[in-house]
Amino acid sequence: TAAAAEEPISPSVQVGETQLLINGKFVDAASGKTFPTVDPRTGEVIARVAEGDAEDVDRAVVAARKAFDEGPWPRMTAYERSRILLRFADLIEKHNDDIAALETWDNGKPYEQAAHIEVPMLARLMRYYAGWTDKIHGLIVPADGPHHVQVLHEPIGVVGQIIPWNFPLLMYGWKVGPALACGNTIVLKTAEQTPLSALYVSKLLHEAGLPEGVLNIVSGFGPTAGAALASHMDVDKIAFTGSTDTGKVILELSARSNLKPVTLELGGKSPFIVMDDADIDQAVELAHFALFFNQGQCCCAGSRTFVHERVYDEFVEKSKARALKRVVGDPFRKGVEQGPQIDDEQFKKILRYIKSGVDSGATLVTGGDKLGDKGYYIQPTIFSDVQDGMKIAQEEIFGPVQSIFKFNDLNEVIKRANASQYGLAAGVFTNNLDTANTLTRALRAGTVWVNCFDIFDAAIPFGGYKMSGIGREKGIDSLKNYLQVKAVVTALKNPAW
Ligand code: ADP
Repeated sequence: TAAAAEEPISPSVQVGETQLLINGKFVDAASGKTFPTVDPRTGEVIARVAEGDAEDVDRAVVAARKAFDEGPWPRMTAYERSRILLRFADLIEKHNDDIAALETWDNGKPYEQAAHIEVPMLARLMRYYAGWTDKIHGLIVPADGPHHVQVLHEPIGVVGQIIPWNFPLLMYGWKVGPALACGNTIVLKTAEQTPLSALYVSKLLHEAGLPEGVLNIVSGFGPTAGAALASHMDVDKIAFTGSTDTGKVILELSARSNLKPVTLELGGKSPFIVMDDADIDQAVELAHFALFFNQGQCCCAGSRTFVHERVYDEFVEKSKARALKRVVGDPFRKGVEQGPQIDDEQFKKILRYIKSGVDSGATLVTGGDKLGDKGYYIQPTIFSDVQDGMKIAQEEIFGPVQSIFKFNDLNEVIKRANASQYGLAAGVFTNNLDTANTLTRALRAGTVWVNCFDIFDAAIPFGGYKMSGIGREKGIDSLKNYLQVKAVVTALKNPAW
């Protein structure tokens, strides 16, 4: 079904580091164990990576604690910390193509996307947070009575961070950036599917001058390394991005251990609403992008496309034509829009959801099957006539499967769009100002994009309502996750002054 891809791009691809990063050094796991990381184009092993577990998490936490209590990091001037992050951004830019190639190899996303969007965004994020380091400060509060009252903003301490595989570098940036800007030390667990790029760039961060022990990386699996981090008694805060089910586990592990504060960025089933006054061609293109971007592997994917009945048939036809034109293939080829899914597990899960859509009576407009016999490629798939009660309408598919729903009234679509356990994002497509205002105010979601989608600026907060999460990342709000607030109240002998 898919259009053919152009010529191959052959950047130099290097695996880089494969050991754990503890106290500024690359080291084997205490157990000596390793696990394979796989090329999603073929299912072949790229490299074996040190497999951290509880003992390694413990070693990493000890290093991070020492770096926080005794090391220079929290005591450095904010300007010095800022300069390290700026040098890191420069090094990311210098190695842009190598980093992008590694990301594509390990994750399967189009190289052009990694090279032109994601790696530059990581550098941008680091410069954004470098700009915050010397602008984080407390307050003097005018309290009643003869007291001088200061509110200090201090780093929290040792923070644990657990990230997923869909945007390995951006998730790294969203986590590491604010934590470092605020003066914390970190133990980060990458996703087992994509451990390589974080190790690669963290080496550059040390080259930029990061002191040892400030950032430790433990590659490994969720129930072992991840759970050990979330339940560690000497970790002061945990930040997690991943599925809602695992988010619940993280919250529970925190509650059962030391009540470390938890921020969660979880799943979604985001509505994309197309009104009848919208420019249909633009809406089709944007709805296509909102769902299919990154192989459909976005927590904020516009996975419920609601289309007004007056433009519905035209919209479905044009969406089908667009999906048929989507270029699927080797992500190292020019012009490729869609690479393979991340792994066999996700690949099979998506095919099960497609079957469920067919079985529940939705109309399969295009696609519906795997593509080729090698790797984890799936045809761009569209269902129309999707009903709210269907499984494909309610659960996160995390793949290239668009579901199109019909509506005829603004209040109806607000109710239906909000009838979800999730509340991560929403898209609104209209040229009517009142309609846009009504929808942006009524939709229960952490982000509402109007006549655009997936705009991710470092300064824009991102996070979920309802079961899509707790807290916000990026922007000024992200700093709160990594700061303690201390009130200092000093008696005044001479209140006249
Ligand atoms: P996905 O289904 O998309 O892989 P997960 O929520 O399972 O999403 O994974 C996101 C991150 O959470 C990964 O780094 C994974 O290893 C980690 N993880 C999975 N299970 C657990 C767990 N029980 N405790 C801590 N971390 C976990």
